Amino acid sequence: MSERDESALREAICAVCRKLWERGLVAGGDGNVSARLGPDRVLATPAGFSKVDVAPDDLVVVSGDGRKLNGEHAVSTEIGVHLRAYLRRPDVHAVVHAHPPTATGLAATGQTIPDDVLPEATVLLGPVPLVRYATPGTPALADAFEEHWTGHDAFLMANHGALTLGGSLRVAHQRMESLEHTARILAAARAFGSVQSLAPHEVLALREMRARLH
Ligand SMILES: [Zn+2]
Repeated sequence: MSERDESALREAICAVCRKLWERGLVAGGDGNVSARLGPDRVLATPAGFSKVDVAPDDLVVVSGDGRKLNGEHAVSTEIGVHLRAYLRRPDVHAVVHAHPPTATGLAATGQTIPDDVLPEATVLLGPVPLVRYATPGTPALADAFEEHWTGHDAFLMANHGALTLGGSLRVAHQRMESLEHTARILAAARAFGSVQSLAPHEVLALREMRARLH
């Protein structure tokens, strides 16, 4: 990647960080955003920063095995899940981790988002697995994702938050926004009454649409 492209990617990561913060999907030092720089290099937000404060020069460059290659700040302990995603999914070029309140609330009750209620969610998110709880920052958390990488681009993490993947930073970020928006709509629907699922043939048509987009 050229110096100019890397600089544009740094700006784009910081823009995503600001949007996550502005929409209340992260608070304090929550969450992390990363993107592939090259075959064995990942550009990521550093540990401990509020996402509204991260500047392009604050980002760190990390190798596939988690070593810091560049940057003055510490690497986030949650980078392990990002690196595992890049390792297992060559199609993934960006990863967003946040603690969106409604979606995380759902995950804290052991539930996840159904993929047969809202068409946009079925197409953009697909089925959203609930990843079992493991201590943040430990390899056990990355291990908990292992059974779910194939066929999934959005994940709820039990008692913790959410993770989204994308072939681009834009798509990974859209998936995180959509995940929270879908959870809010579901919460509203459940407050109004019982949720009506789409007819099976309609769900099938949406899943085919999603498959064509991949
Ligand atoms: Zn987290």
